[in-house]
Amino acid sequence: EIVTDLTPLAQKKQITLHQECEDIHIIGSDALIYRMLFNLVENAIKYNQPGGSVQITISRSNGKAILRVADTGCGIPDEYRTSIFEPFFRVDKSRSREMGGAGLGLALVREIAALHGGTVQDEPAEGAGTVFTVALPM
Ligand code: ATP
Ligand code: MG
Repeated sequence: EIVTDLTPLAQKKQITLHQECEDIHIIGSDALIYRMLFNLVENAIKYNQPGGSVQITISRSNGKAILRVADTGCGIPDEYRTSIFEPFFRVDKSRSREMGGAGLGLALVREIAALHGGTVQDEPAEGAGTVFTVALPM
């Protein structure tokens, strides 16, 4: 559903979306889980570059559901890897019209993950791009 809903934005930005999702059942709020993953995928498109891609993976590991969103974008400098989850924090402070955004997307991701007993982290990138991983109890 999220891939369908974000395909127009991805096409506009010339980004391809890929998904590899195991059929996993978790207990929680449909609306909140939608919002959490939507915010991550929207960022992965928004902060990407033309010709780039976004890979969404849902798998299980150690009894947890792992939702992973990897992109080929500009990446997040190491020193901001925790601040980005704070409300209103943006790496580019200019809040340009083009990028829009209040800086609330990742703060919501963190809250929603926590409400479901889970965690989110921004993995140190191997090479260019960004990888966000949400782990939720199953
Ligand atoms: P909003 O989500 O409220 O519309 P936003 O996208 O600016 O606005 P967040 O989603 O909270 O806010 O992201 C915070 C900041 O983290 C962004 O402004 C951007 O600088 C950086 N960021 C988030 N995701 C990525 C990403 N995938 N690649 C590079 N930078 C990112
Ligand atoms: Mg955002």
